[in-house]
Amino acid sequence: MGGTIEIPGEVRAAFTGELIAPADPGYEQARRVHNGLIDKRPVLIARCRTVPDIVDAVTIGREQAAEISVRGGGHNVAGLAVTDGGLMIDLAPMKGIRIDPARRTIWAQAGATWKELNRAAAVHGLATTGGVVSSTGIAGLTLGGGEGWLMGKYGLTVDNLLAVEVVTADGQVIMASAEHHPDLFWALSPGGHGLRRDGRPSRQPGTRGARLLPRPHPGGPRRADRVHEPVR
Ligand SMILES: Cc1cc2nc3c(=O)[nH]c(=O)nc-3n(C[C@H](O)[C@H](O)[C@H](O)COP(=O)(O)OP(=O)(O)OC[C@H]3O[C@@H](n4cnc5c(N)ncnc54)[C@H](O)[C@@H]3O)c2cc1C
Repeated sequence: MGGTIEIPGEVRAAFTGELIAPADPGYEQARRVHNGLIDKRPVLIARCRTVPDIVDAVTIGREQAAEISVRGGGHNVAGLAVTDGGLMIDLAPMKGIRIDPARRTIWAQAGATWKELNRAAAVHGLATTGGVVSSTGIAGLTLGGGEGWLMGKYGLTVDNLLAVEVVTADGQVIMASAEHHPDLFWALSPGGHGLRRDGRPSRQPGTRGARLLPRPHPGGPRRADRVHEPVR
């Protein structure tokens, strides 16, 4: 794939993150993911800081028929977070985490890693099932099910997922949970692996969640109703 992606002037003026083209400083670093063998070159990298940034990026990609990839923690070994010749939406700068100790829930943005989430939760004596490697992103791991230290007792990460805020392909921002848009919530869980472009379930690998951008809380709120026991 190749080509160009035009950035409308109003988007460039309003974008609070970074719009990085191949000639820009930082491009080589921004396209890198955990697996150093991945060598894909997006035409544009949209490093988002806010939800409107994500909406703008999705809109640009849709209107210009660009292939879109989404990067959370960048740990997918096949490099699915990076597109070759398309638009890469990088959510890594979005690291907000909010703990509600009374309700024992965590809201976390899509760029947070397990290290960051665990640290914030541990302050309140809380924990949830997360990855065993601290640099893994909470978003991709949760969307894939999520296995970790606490799963024997508390299930997979996704079993503790309560809601997901989603930017849809047409730029809407909606909340999906068991009560609101339950079909979408189901589709975002590994039990619902695979959405086709029309939103119906698919068994085809590679189409999974392709038109869905959980933002900025792909991991949350998650149930964190477990007392964290110190590990010796
Ligand atoms: C060193 C290492 C250790 C690991 N340990 C564990 C472990 O303990 N338990 C476990 O279950 N898994 C583990 N994994 C696997 C890991 O969960 C998956 O690779 C996961 O996809 C990584 O998520 P990420 O956000 O870091 O990766 P990314 O590569 O950024 O994303 C992975 C996939 O999810 C999509 N995605 C990410 N964020 C979003 C979003 N906000 N919206 C829509 N799509 C999104 C991406 O497009 C991509 O397809 C490990 C992987 C590595 C490399």
